[in-house]
Amino acid sequence: MDANMQRRLIVETANVVVGHADELTTLDQAIGDGDHGLNMKRGAMAILERVDDLAEKSLPDALKTAGQTLVMKVGGASGPLYGTLLMTLGKELPAAPKQDDVVRALGAAVAAVKKIGRSDVGQKTMLDVFGPVHEELALGGPALLDRVRQRAAAAAEATVSMKATKGRASFLGDRSIGHMDPGARSSMLMIAAVCTVMEE
Ligand code: ADP
Ligand code: MG
Repeated sequence: MDANMQRRLIVETANVVVGHADELTTLDQAIGDGDHGLNMKRGAMAILERVDDLAEKSLPDALKTAGQTLVMKVGGASGPLYGTLLMTLGKELPAAPKQDDVVRALGAAVAAVKKIGRSDVGQKTMLDVFGPVHEELALGGPALLDRVRQRAAAAAEATVSMKATKGRASFLGDRSIGHMDPGARSSMLMIAAVCTVMEE
């Protein structure tokens, strides 16, 4: 991946978050405290501010720095979780990853999120997108990026009918059912942006 591609990845991923901040806030107003859009936008803007620096770094260093930036800027539950995801990817990925490197690194990153979140797939969180996406990626085969994007979208949609048992939404119990999880939506949006850039 050259610096140009890395820049596009950063810019497109951050832009999709900024562009959907209001929607993420609305989702979090329904089952949380209504700050997910603002939290994520703050993180995305901080990343965009240092895009020149990030694009020039090796992929692992860029991921580590972006992860640290999210931990510092996003706040809430999602900041440390997304931050850990990116920092773990940065730690696990080689500078020029092949597909199996990505599968392994994402597996490690999902495990790290589970550990610090004391959470698992099935609790109506971002893990309900990242878990299935890791599964799909591990399958390999044709049209993989398109399949990953579709799997992420379906997985986010599937959180609507789930009952939250982690995070703020769990305080609502059964009333969390019927709303998409905000973190699942932000995850799906960023994954779709990454897939689209990688396809080009
Ligand atoms: P907060 O919940 O502190 O207000 P945000 O609103 O920014 O933080 O993020 C909420 C999202 O974070 C949820 O929609 C969910 O996807 C994710 N989340 C919250 N707690 C956990 C957890 N323990 N494990 C995994 N994801 C979580
Ligand atoms: Mg919130």
